[in-house]
Amino acid sequence: MLFRSLTSIIMLQSKTVTLKQSVDEGLPGPEHFSTVEREVAALGDEAGAVQLQVTAMSADPYLRMRIKSSSSFGNVAPGEAMSGFVVGKVLASNSTDWAVGDLFGGNLPFSTVQTLSADELKASMLWKLNGVLSEEELTLGLGLLGMPGSTAYGGLFDVLAAKEGETIFVSAASGAVGSLVGMLAKNVFNCTVIGSCGGPEKAALIKEKFGYDHAIDYKTLKGKDDLVAALKLAAPDGIDMYFENVGGFHFDAALASLRTGGRIAVCGGISQYNASQPELHAFDPMSMVYTAQRIEGFLCGPWLTGQKGHFLRDMSTYLREGKVVPQETFFDGVDKWAEGFQALFTGKNLGKVVIRTA
Ligand code: NDP
Repeated sequence: MLFRSLTSIIMLQSKTVTLKQSVDEGLPGPEHFSTVEREVAALGDEAGAVQLQVTAMSADPYLRMRIKSSSSFGNVAPGEAMSGFVVGKVLASNSTDWAVGDLFGGNLPFSTVQTLSADELKASMLWKLNGVLSEEELTLGLGLLGMPGSTAYGGLFDVLAAKEGETIFVSAASGAVGSLVGMLAKNVFNCTVIGSCGGPEKAALIKEKFGYDHAIDYKTLKGKDDLVAALKLAAPDGIDMYFENVGGFHFDAALASLRTGGRIAVCGGISQYNASQPELHAFDPMSMVYTAQRIEGFLCGPWLTGQKGHFLRDMSTYLREGKVVPQETFFDGVDKWAEGFQALFTGKNLGKVVIRTA
């Protein structure tokens, strides 16, 4: 009895990333976020509860929508905790489903130590990574074997329905999703792969590391016409697929370069996320009739949760076979979360942005 009351007063330090102020327009940065420290009691004997240690947090572009003051993406109010994809280890458990030391991935608040009641556990998106990843490689659960991986996989395999030998154009080609799309398109479908990214170093690197045959440095282009010309040089007969991550003139140029039977998978439009009003596109839908072209938006959820396809099984196999190779940019310390998030909009990342908490 005495032992039980002592364990329940042992306190653990937890750090949480919170939003300081909404950011409707412009580049988000460290000035918009705070790290709040608090003490969390060690897990008592509450039936079904678990206590989790978050060892790494993700920073993803979609969170940009959630920090606008009015948004249909479930916005975070100033003072509230940010949340998103995390990985970690079970610290203590009264749940029959989870054991101490189990490795997990989840969609949770960005807090280093957190206790979930049985009801909260049931309502949370939490999955086991035991047997899929070791503790040393757990951060892959945020990237290659997490949300971006499932986005690349679902977008390329199902939405675009890639075929052997086709030509694909991918924007944000050096990032978490784009780097994986490049490698999968080259190493699984033997496609001709064209990527756009910012700067000469990245342009060289996507060809060296991510399976790209052609790299276009979009920062050297003035707009749509320049990109159409660059695509024409790389693919004189046009492109079969466009994996859209960026929006703006990238979309217009890709559509103008699309062949008969061509497909566009609209995954995201990061060039518009810092604007208060996104640019609108004008195009003639009739142009898609005789060309039998298709534009389709998608969210990664069905592939991430296994409702569609076999993402975890297939990507783990491609990882073992070396067909996909992880690329991560690490930021160390919860205090660095905002810096990691900002890197997505300044291009300071390569591959997946991961914030390690320890
Ligand atoms: P990345 O790792 O690709 O990081 C974002 C990259 O975007 C940066 O590295 C930068 O690269 C590029 N970028 C930033 N601003 C601009 C700009 N103004 N114009 C052109 N490029 C820009 O992020 P993710 O891989 O996580 O996400 C890529 C896209 O996929 C995003 O649009 C995101 O919203 C979307 N997404 C959609 C999902 C879905 O379910 N539909 C799920 C996950 C992501 P550079 O240096 O080349 O400029």
